[in-house]
Amino acid sequence: MDHRFIPNLTDEKIADKQLEGLKWTAAHAYQGSPFYRSSMKEQGMEPGDIKTLDDIRKLPFTTAEDLKDGYPMPLLSVPEADVVRIHGSSGTTGKRKILAYTQNDIDVWKDMFARCYELAGLTVTDRVQICVGYGLWTAGVGFQLGCERFGAMALPVGPGLLEIQLQMLTDLKSTCLCSTASMALLMSEEVQKQGLADKIALKKVIFGAETHTPKMRKQFEEALGLEHSFDILGMTELYGPGTGLECMAHEGMHYWADIFIMEILDPDTLEPVAPGEVGEMVLTSLKKEASPLIRYRTHDLTRFIPGTCSCGLNMPRVDKIMGRSDDMFIFRGVNIYPGQIGSVLEGFGELSAEYQISLTRREGLDHMSVRVERLPGSGDGNDENLAKTVANEIRKHILVRSEVKIVGTGTLPRSFAKAKRVQDDRSEE
Ligand code: ADP
Ligand code: ZN
Repeated sequence: MDHRFIPNLTDEKIADKQLEGLKWTAAHAYQGSPFYRSSMKEQGMEPGDIKTLDDIRKLPFTTAEDLKDGYPMPLLSVPEADVVRIHGSSGTTGKRKILAYTQNDIDVWKDMFARCYELAGLTVTDRVQICVGYGLWTAGVGFQLGCERFGAMALPVGPGLLEIQLQMLTDLKSTCLCSTASMALLMSEEVQKQGLADKIALKKVIFGAETHTPKMRKQFEEALGLEHSFDILGMTELYGPGTGLECMAHEGMHYWADIFIMEILDPDTLEPVAPGEVGEMVLTSLKKEASPLIRYRTHDLTRFIPGTCSCGLNMPRVDKIMGRSDDMFIFRGVNIYPGQIGSVLEGFGELSAEYQISLTRREGLDHMSVRVERLPGSGDGNDENLAKTVANEIRKHILVRSEVKIVGTGTLPRSFAKAKRVQDDRSEE
């Protein structure tokens, strides 16, 4: 394969780069960060103990708690004078995380992101409409940085601003849209509603930042007349978006294993799960200078996809993120991830991809209600029957009772960013 940005590496070469990067990162963090030094000492190890890739297991874990304790400049391992930028996470789960970058960190990120556009089959004549947040977040800046490095044309619209988005789609004929899956869905509904489908030239959507369902994806792929859509991997702690992307074979996301190591561990025992089993993604950076990551527990759940990809690229693959362990809620003693409800709804052709779960407590007992939208003109129109069938399926698969309400299309709140699926009012009784 002939690539400008994606390196062509054998397994051995990747392993060499990983071992070299691991040794460097352990030594760099030990030397530069009092936090890492004391956490390695506590673990009874020092950087010189890293001799093979398996020795990664000697290193201590790092958690989101550690980031909060070090606020506002956690994990800092270089003199502040070397920091050229900071970014903050969206703070979906608690306090905002702030991470620092050196110029070299920015350059690594930029090249990684250019690889993503290349993997998505873009060329320098593509027009990339970036509909994610600019500012403190890594999203907008990251997509922009990568696009300019790659050499395509960036249209930095940001999230929301529906009218401007549609104007760019129709007047500038954007060929690639970058957004959350929720936002892509919302735009596709608007394109349909305003009858713009044959006035736009979109071919691809790159979406990320939140979990999606195949149904959401199919819905916007069809409504926008796409050739491909690609799930993109990323989190603020590890540069930002662009650390991995689906290829055109759509058999999982390739991630840049020469830049970071991914482990998938059992969240309870912290031992590796069997190949292909679901576990928690744990990340170690290999080149990050300002805020290196050592065995950072992401709480994101996914699995490795074993074997080589039919696209021919030799970079390991990971399945889509199924949810984050901190999204889990406990309802009447059952652990539930919102995505499990989403999966049940997948089976119903007469429902849209949107859903909302609401949890309340009445007289000491928890109640769950699930609101879903019926697609116009679908099924026999009997909402009561449909609601009953959906509730039965939820009970069958997740073993809990819920009250299902069918609402009209477009009734549920749409999101320009990450959709919020669960409204938990149980503490308010
Ligand atoms: P936070 O949401 O924690 O404030 P970020 O804005 O950095 O922080 O978002 C990173 C998180 O977003 C990831 O840990 C993961 O849970 C989620 N995420 C990012 N990309 C995807 C994706 N492609 N699919 C599913 N979830 C994703
Ligand atoms: Zn592939």
